This record gives sequence, structure tokens and C-alpha cells, in this order.
Amino acid sequence: MPTAFSEDDLEFGTVPDFSEHDLQFPAKVRRSSLREQVREALRAALISGRMRPGVLYSAPALAEMLGVSATPIREAMLDLAKEDLVVAVRNKGFRVTAVSDRELDELVEARLLLEVPTMAAVAEQYAPRMDAELRRLRGLARDLEAAAESDEIVTYLQLDTEFHASFVALYGNTEIVKIVRQLRSRSRLYGLEALARAGQLVDSTREHMQMIDLAVANDRAGLEDLTRVHLSHVRTIWAQQGR
Ligand SMILES: [Zn+2]
Repeated sequence: MPTAFSEDDLEFGTVPDFSEHDLQFPAKVRRSSLREQVREALRAALISGRMRPGVLYSAPALAEMLGVSATPIREAMLDLAKEDLVVAVRNKGFRVTAVSDRELDELVEARLLLEVPTMAAVAEQYAPRMDAELRRLRGLARDLEAAAESDEIVTYLQLDTEFHASFVALYGNTEIVKIVRQLRSRSRLYGLEALARAGQLVDSTREHMQMIDLAVANDRAGLEDLTRVHLSHVRTIWAQQGR
């Protein structure tokens, strides 16, 4: 798993490990503007490690890959630069920020401290008035399983963020939702592709539907435990399978 970069990685104008279908707009997650769609597709590419730390990517090269013009790519990359996910390099493009193992551990710890008690509170608060939102979550869980089965990693990551942010949102604190999204964007899940290829992603993906069932059963302790297990995959099985 690449955690630091060497001089060799600082290539310009080349985009390693990319193929045409790597950057795609998932049909299930539609954003309002092209800039936002491009930003979320690039974000998922960063999280999955398709865009590698230390490597310099030019806007025209990324534009070609996504089949859009360079302008929305530049705008989206500037948004991601504000979040420190990439650094703008004058007249050249954008370099992907490296994230250390220690930072990844800290990000997961922060997510556990925030999401586990919030999800437990959602299970405690569950009432039938939340059913419309839970139906939407079930739809997302089904789409996640389909994405895992077909190895669509970029789609998977976008849907997974949407699922967890929407679930936590049922608690009713928008600040928590924002922080959950931010922590998630800064994580790196380099092991995800290998896991998908080995057919192991489908197993942890089934936990999403189980989470909904536990909330409906008002099973506070059950949802607390499953959320902890689910989030811990990120630094255990997902990380170990890294390339
Ligand atoms: Zn998940």
C-alpha cells in the first residue's frame, strides 16, 4: 500500500493504473451540476487509490478520461484542494496528497467515536415516521450489493458515503453528518479493489441491510456493535488486501 511517494512517482502528464472505465459517473448518484459530478467522481478515485499519492495529474489528462472539458475538472480539483485532498501545482496540474498509516488510523478512530453512538441513538429513536427514509436506505443497500458484485469501486464508494451519511442524518444533527462526510473523504481505501476481485467485498456489503433491520427492531446494542465491526473493516480486512 503506497503511503509515501518517491521522486519516481512525480511523473507529469502520465496517469498510472487508469483505464477508460476507471473514472465514471455512477448512474445512481446524480449531482446537480457537472462540477459536483466531476468532484465526486474524482473524490472516489482518490479514496480508492486509483489516483495515487504524490502523482501529478494534469487537468486535460483527467478531462479526457472523464469525457468532459478541462474547466469542470479544474473547478472540481480546486474544491478538492480546499479540502487538502490534492495540492495545485502552478501551470502543471494537481498532486494527490499522501496520507500516512497513522492518519488513517486516527480517521477511523474519529469515525468510530462519532458514528457508533449516533447510529445507536438512531436505533433507539426509530419510529414508523422514518420509514420513507429507511426505504431509500434499503434502495442504496441493494445498489451497494450490486456495485460490489460487479466490482464498480467508484460507484460503490459514492453509494457507501451516501448510505452512511443518510443513516447518521436520521439522528437529526447536520454538523455530525458534515463531519462524517469529511472524515470519509480524507480516508484512503486502497484495499477495496483487491477485496472486490477476491469476492470478499460482497460479505461486508450485506451488513448495510442488517443495519437497517437492527434500526427497525430498535436494537440499540445490536446496531452499535455492527457499526463498530463495519467501520473497522476499513483498517483490517480492507487495508490488508492493499496492493
Ligand atoms: Zn459501508
